[in-house]
Amino acid sequence: YYNSNTVIYVNGRFVKAEETKTDLYGQSLHYGFAAFEGIRAYKTHNATRIFKIKEHYDRLQRSCELVNIPFIWDKNELIKQTYRLLELNNLKDAYIRPLVYCEPNMTLIAPQKASIMICAWEWGAYLGSKQLKVCVSPFQRPNPKSTFVEAKISGHYVNSILATTDAKSKGFDEALLLDMNENVAEAPGANIFIEKNGKLYTPSLGNILAGITRNTVIELCHVLDIEIIEKNISVAELKKADSAFFCGTATEIIGIHTIDDVVFKQKWNDSIGATIQRAYKNLVLEKVNYEVII
Ligand code: PMP
Repeated sequence: YYNSNTVIYVNGRFVKAEETKTDLYGQSLHYGFAAFEGIRAYKTHNATRIFKIKEHYDRLQRSCELVNIPFIWDKNELIKQTYRLLELNNLKDAYIRPLVYCEPNMTLIAPQKASIMICAWEWGAYLGSKQLKVCVSPFQRPNPKSTFVEAKISGHYVNSILATTDAKSKGFDEALLLDMNENVAEAPGANIFIEKNGKLYTPSLGNILAGITRNTVIELCHVLDIEIIEKNISVAELKKADSAFFCGTATEIIGIHTIDDVVFKQKWNDSIGATIQRAYKNLVLEKVNYEVII
């Protein structure tokens, strides 16, 4: 992720990644009490553009506020410094990771003060480009009555790591987690859409992370005149779907080949997901300016 030349942003200053240190008494390290974002920059024909950067910093602020981590930064300044970070590291296509973390504190009380760091590195599509073999995970997503599931909090990702590790150990590419009602929720780091009879369906908000890519897909459906319905989806409905895909900032749009032992009948290239995948690429690369329509 970094080398001796890499520069990262920490609390208003650019510093060499190799020279930074973290406090081993930090509340974030011990309890997973931190908030983060995953953002992507694309080299477009215009310039390097960070896709939906404002939405990502808005969600970072909201994640912090939900769990009482102080968020004191000017988001326009963070946006400016994120572009500067890419320049300093000579990155064009990049993944950007801001993290708001808490200082030494061994109590279970939210801190008065937090720090922010932003790092970036070159990263291809997180789950590759081949359609995925997916299993229904034995791990459920966190219960919304136990935490704020709409907040992107570091500690929530213990659940994600458990699910992905379990799926890989069984020979699958990725896991699909259910919610506490046994409805389809999301992947460890991506949202899901299914196609049935020419319409798209995706789980309603409430028990999942409100993905920025999920939102983009919904906007693209409106532009492309594809009917999109948000509702609870059972595992039986999922397995009877014509096709399905995951979406996320790191994942982008990726087709699902199988769920457990069920192969989707629709060929990926003929699916709505493939159309969305092309539209998403065009959008992030600014080949088509859907933004004027959305
Ligand atoms: N769900 C989870 C659990 C995630 O970690 C992510 C990645 N942030 C997503 C969904 C997709 O969110 P986004 O499209 O905002 O990257």
